[in-house]
Amino acid sequence: MSERVDLLVVGGGTAGLPAAAEAAEQGLDVLLVEKADRLGGTLWRSWAQMAAAGTGLQRTRGIRDTPDLHYDDVMRISRGTADPDLVRLAVDHAAETVDRLMSAGFDMDPDAPAVLYFHEPYSVARTYWGREAGKSVLDVLLPRVRGLADRGRIRVRTRTALTGLRGGGGPSVEAAVLRDAAGAVEEVEAGAVVLTTGGYAGNPGLFPLLTGGAPLRGPAAETSAGDGILAALSLGARLRGSDMFLPTYGGTLRAGSDWETAHLDDFPQLTPQERPPWEIHVNRSGLRFVAEDDASVDVREHALARQRGVEFWVVYDQRAVEEAPPLFPSWGEADLERAFTGNPSFTRADDLDSLAEAAGIDPQGLRLTVREYNRAVAGGGDPLGRTHLPAPLERGPFYAVRNHGTVLKSPAGLAVDGRLRVLGDDGRPFTNLYAAGEALGGSSMSGRSFVSGMSVTPALSFGRLIGRAAAGEDQHWRP
Ligand SMILES: Cc1cc2nc3c(=O)[nH]c(=O)nc-3n(C[C@H](O)[C@H](O)[C@H](O)COP(=O)(O)OP(=O)(O)OC[C@H]3O[C@@H](n4cnc5c(N)ncnc54)[C@H](O)[C@@H]3O)c2cc1C
Repeated sequence: MSERVDLLVVGGGTAGLPAAAEAAEQGLDVLLVEKADRLGGTLWRSWAQMAAAGTGLQRTRGIRDTPDLHYDDVMRISRGTADPDLVRLAVDHAAETVDRLMSAGFDMDPDAPAVLYFHEPYSVARTYWGREAGKSVLDVLLPRVRGLADRGRIRVRTRTALTGLRGGGGPSVEAAVLRDAAGAVEEVEAGAVVLTTGGYAGNPGLFPLLTGGAPLRGPAAETSAGDGILAALSLGARLRGSDMFLPTYGGTLRAGSDWETAHLDDFPQLTPQERPPWEIHVNRSGLRFVAEDDASVDVREHALARQRGVEFWVVYDQRAVEEAPPLFPSWGEADLERAFTGNPSFTRADDLDSLAEAAGIDPQGLRLTVREYNRAVAGGGDPLGRTHLPAPLERGPFYAVRNHGTVLKSPAGLAVDGRLRVLGDDGRPFTNLYAAGEALGGSSMSGRSFVSGMSVTPALSFGRLIGRAAAGEDQHWRP
């Protein structure tokens, strides 16, 4: 046995950084271990949109909002499938999270808070984001942790991975097994352990096993490998949310990868409130499966979840290229040309049959679908109820971009009690094993749906709460 600490925080990302900082500021001896070579986790690539009701910024803008309204919105959007107790805890502490970021100099985008449409919209403007997305959050969190580390209040070890947990008497954890980059293995005894290792949306092998067989395609980091979830499961923890898979609507694969998609900023713009569609969306049979302009992204996501392979093709013609707003707003002509010449998800052909053949879509289905769609454009009425029908698809060359139901956060995770202590299979909490962030399963906060800001904000808040609780500051659970 080489060392003993008051609190071991495993994973230095969105939830782990505030957990470690808060506990150290309360006087605990904290060891923060991070398997990557830098702290920050998913915040390096996340949009980090946050949601909070009753913030100072809302008051300044005259927006009336309360945690109760926020709670009602989350439960409405998730159709009651989110975890009511955890959502309650999250909405009650969200305003403090955003207000504290602001007092620490957070670089808030001047357009925030707003109602956004990438996910099903809230009824009130309560989504916030930094001018540099997740990096703006890190610009606040990292100096705080580094300052504590410089003063010897937190010990930080990067390139050090948790590989297992050792249980104590009763449902508790006694020690953690860590491995550093050189392969040296060490056991650390801890008064309490916090699992903030993220989800498993970067682990294509594990994803279907924990998610009812659903395929993984997405832009998450490979560090999101499910390590903390697996370590707790092997200690007898309970998994929840395996049946809560819902894909995000769209996203293309990187050339050469069968699961990793382009960065989220480079996804096609398929949100009809941002860009009414000029294209049709078809499945492998060449058939449309939803009104492409349906205002509810939840409706479109559930329709996609029912398609074979959870994939679809966005099909358009030369006229759309010339007249429509750009489908890939972040790309220039050279980027598009590179995609259509070097990425198998992007297909271009002179006629529809050749396009279908090259893309792997049923040609007869596509031909019939386009004929029916063009009839709807000519005034025949769209059988799927689409109302934005700007132009027929008739002028070659034709284009097909293979899209997927993608995963930004993994749905299943560790069941916890109201104090974020990991629950065993028998329903009893491990007395000193906590979890926060995506290790709880993305579906805990949004059920079988997606609710704006309900990953990053709860991760930050719950990290802070655990840091305080570990230091005996339990009165903070109720704001
Ligand atoms: C592209 C993208 C955009 C997103 N946009 C939003 C958004 O706008 N709003 C929102 O609410 N959510 C968003 N999300 C989801 C959200 O960002 C994540 O759910 C959240 O950041 C996860 O926080 P976390 O602390 O659980 O994990 P992370 O921030 O990923 O931190 C986990 C850390 O643990 C480390 N780790 C893992 N295993 C080990 C181990 N064995 N030992 C030691 N360390 C380990 C990892 O390296 C990592 O640093 C997005 C996700 C993606 C991928």
